[in-house]
Amino acid sequence: MDRGGENGGPADLAAPAGSGEPSVRLDRVSKQFGDLVAVRELGLDIGRGEFFTLLGPSGCGKTTTLRMVAGFERPTAGRVLIDGQDVAGLPSYQRPTNTVFQSYALFPHLSVGENVAFGLRRKKVPKREINDRVAAELERVGLAAESNRRPNQLSGGQQQRVALARALVNLPKVLLLDEPLGALDLKLRKGLQVELKRIQRDVGITFVDVTHDQEEALTMSDRIAVMSSGVTEQVGTPETVYERPRTTFVAGFIGVSNLMPGVVTQAGGGRGTVRLDTGLEVEAQVDSITAGERCHAVVRPEKLEIQHSGEPPRAGLPSVEGVVESSVYLGTATQIVVRLAGDVAMTVLVPNASEAERARLPGGGASVRLSWAPEHMHLVRESAASPDTDAEAEPGANELAEQAA
Ligand code: ATP
Repeated sequence: MDRGGENGGPADLAAPAGSGEPSVRLDRVSKQFGDLVAVRELGLDIGRGEFFTLLGPSGCGKTTTLRMVAGFERPTAGRVLIDGQDVAGLPSYQRPTNTVFQSYALFPHLSVGENVAFGLRRKKVPKREINDRVAAELERVGLAAESNRRPNQLSGGQQQRVALARALVNLPKVLLLDEPLGALDLKLRKGLQVELKRIQRDVGITFVDVTHDQEEALTMSDRIAVMSSGVTEQVGTPETVYERPRTTFVAGFIGVSNLMPGVVTQAGGGRGTVRLDTGLEVEAQVDSITAGERCHAVVRPEKLEIQHSGEPPRAGLPSVEGVVESSVYLGTATQIVVRLAGDVAMTVLVPNASEAERARLPGGGASVRLSWAPEHMHLVRESAASPDTDAEAEPGANELAEQAA
C-alpha cells in the first residue's frame, strides 16, 4: 500500500501556513527494535506554538515517536530537528524539551513548590528567580494555594498540574505529553483537556501530545496525526480527520465507521459518484480516490436521518433501507444500529430533543430508511490496519530522572 499517498501529500504534513520554520521536524524517522519496525520513515513538521497530537491504538508507534523527540530513544534512521537544529547528538537533558508522563512521577517527600523548583535548583538558578518562576507556574496551573502541600495531599488531577508546572518552569521550547490524562477518571480528564488547551495558549509553546483517546485529541489539538503500524494514516485538523477521513482506519478510529462498500464511478474536483454494492449510485465527496477504485462510503452517525420505511422519502436525498437491530438511550441522544443489505451495519445518532420525538423513533425489528445530504458522504480507501485496541500505562520514572540529570 502506498502510505505516502494516504498522508495526503506534503501540504498536509507540513506545519500550518505562516508558522515559519517548524518547531519539530521528523525527517524520514524510523525506529526498529530487533525485527520489529515500531516507526517507519515518518515525516512530519510541527509548527511553533502548535498543539499537535499523535493519536493511535496501542503499539502504533506514537510513544516511540515522542521518545525520539525527547531523546529517550535514538532513531534507527532519519533525523529529528528542533527549531532547525538536528538533535541527534544531544541527550534528553540537553534538548529544549520537557516531558509530562501519565504517572506524574512527583517526588513524594518534597512539597508542591519544591517539586516544581527541583530542575531550576539543579541548574543553580538564583533563589529569588526560582521563587518567582515557581510562583508564576503554580499560578498558571491554578495551584498557587497548594505550594506547601505534599503530592499525596493532592488529587490525581492536581498532581498532574504540578507535573505540568514542573515541566513548564524550565521554559522548554517543546512540551511533550505522554498520555498525560490517562490515569484520571473521565470527568477529571474532560476538565483537564480544556485546561491544558488554555495553558498551552497561555504559554504559547509547542505541545506534542500522545494519546489513544480520540475525544481528547479532537478537543485539544490544532492538528492530529492518526498513526497505525508505525506510519501516519492522516494528518490534519480535528475537523478534517473527523469530517474527511482518508482511510477506513481513520474513519473507524475517530468516531463510528459507518462504512458502505462500493466502487467510484466518477471523480474530479473533490466531488464524484460511487456505486454502492447495494446497486445505488450516489454523489459523494472524493479526495484522492480515482474512478474505478474500490472504496468505502462513510456517513457519520449524526448526519444520517432515520424514518420508518412507510413514510414518504426525503425529497432529493439519497437513501438506503434496512432493519433496526438495536436502539440504545444515551442521555443526550439515542443510538440506533440499522442492518442494511450485504450485512452492513450503520449507526445513527438522533438527538433526544423531546420525549415526543423519541417516542416516534423506530424500535428493534422496524423497517427503516436512512437518508443523508450528498455533502455528508465521503469516500475512503481500505486500510490494512484495524482500529480496535487499547493503550497501556507508561510509568516514565526513569526518563524523568534522565531528563532532570
Ligand atoms: P502504547 O499506547 O501502548 O504505549 P504506542 O502506540 O505508544 O502504544 P509504542 O510504545 O511506540 O506504541 O510501541 C510501538 C511498538 O514498538 C510496539 O510493538 C512495542 O511493543 C514496541 N516497542 C516499544 N518499545 C520497545 C522496546 N524498548 N523494545 C522492544 N520493543 C519495543
